Amino acid sequence: MKILLFGKNGQVGWELQRALAPLGDLIALDRRGERGLSGDLSNLDALAAMVRAVAPDVIVNAAAYTAVDRAEAEAGVAATINGAAPGVLAREAAARGAWLVHYSSDYVFDGSGDRPRDESSACSPLSVYGRTKLDGELAVVNGGAKHLIFRTSWIYAARGDNFARTMLRLAQERERLRVVADQVGAPTGAELIADVTAHALRMALRDPRLGGLYHLAAGGDTSWHGYAKHVIEWARERGRPIRVAPDAIEPIASSDYPAAARRPLNSRLDTERLRHRFDLVLPDWRDGVNRMLAETLGPPVET
Ligand code: NDP
Repeated sequence: MKILLFGKNGQVGWELQRALAPLGDLIALDRRGERGLSGDLSNLDALAAMVRAVAPDVIVNAAAYTAVDRAEAEAGVAATINGAAPGVLAREAAARGAWLVHYSSDYVFDGSGDRPRDESSACSPLSVYGRTKLDGELAVVNGGAKHLIFRTSWIYAARGDNFARTMLRLAQERERLRVVADQVGAPTGAELIADVTAHALRMALRDPRLGGLYHLAAGGDTSWHGYAKHVIEWARERGRPIRVAPDAIEPIASSDYPAAARRPLNSRLDTERLRHRFDLVLPDWRDGVNRMLAETLGPPVET
């Protein structure tokens, strides 16, 4: 089986290189491509021709325009990469009976209320990024290929920068921190997303009726403020030189932290469909965050 992966150096793409490797022959590309194969999602004609030339059995698209604020000023580029390219991949996959795995976002919702959204909840994005991600989902469905679309939220990975590590750095430098407390969701590890993808793909290859749209997020929920506090206390308990006092991590409203793009306040995703159909457990968000911290920060500091 030939698997073609786009976005191999992104948070999820990196973990997918590991998780998909045992499933078949993996051709993993970043934007620059390799061996004459372009992995650039912004050149739609070249993308279609490349997929035809590779003739994969499975396409996994972990590439996306993910700069949420910048997308407000670059709507055209975001629309091509997030909205149009997934449609090209879906049509090419359909033409050869291949599967397409694609990722979408909690930002397709407006975030009103406090109930978790399920796959049938109405979408109403607040930002250019959210709209383009929704367009991408529709393009995949309309492209007619067998597909798995995973909507996920608040991704972090051990590799590269992430919110947790930024908070830790600031907590070592500053005496006070202000963190948004009115956006609620589930920090979800790229590792978990990649492992669930491999598991679900394996099952769907055997039973194509499992194709469709699924919400995929770690268990439980928290705010960015709760997430920051958790990470900082974890580090403090392990002897890290944390400067900020526990009561000096101030909860603030989104309106106190202006950004170009509006974010949903309620990013809770109902994952029942995924867990039930694929017989999965999605661990609490703290499990994955603690593991990522242990991996990236190393053992406790002896005092
Ligand atoms: P990253 O931003 O870590 O990775 C995205 C990858 O896409 C990068 O490697 C980037 O390459 C690549 N890319 C950007 N533009 C192009 C292009 N024109 N052609 C080819 N590749 C390109 O994303 P994540 O791993 O965090 O996200 C994976 C998926 O999950 C995406 O679909 C995203 O929309 C979705 N998602 C993300 C969330 C998050 O919190 N990050 C939350 C919910 C959903 P380069 O580095 O060269 O720009």
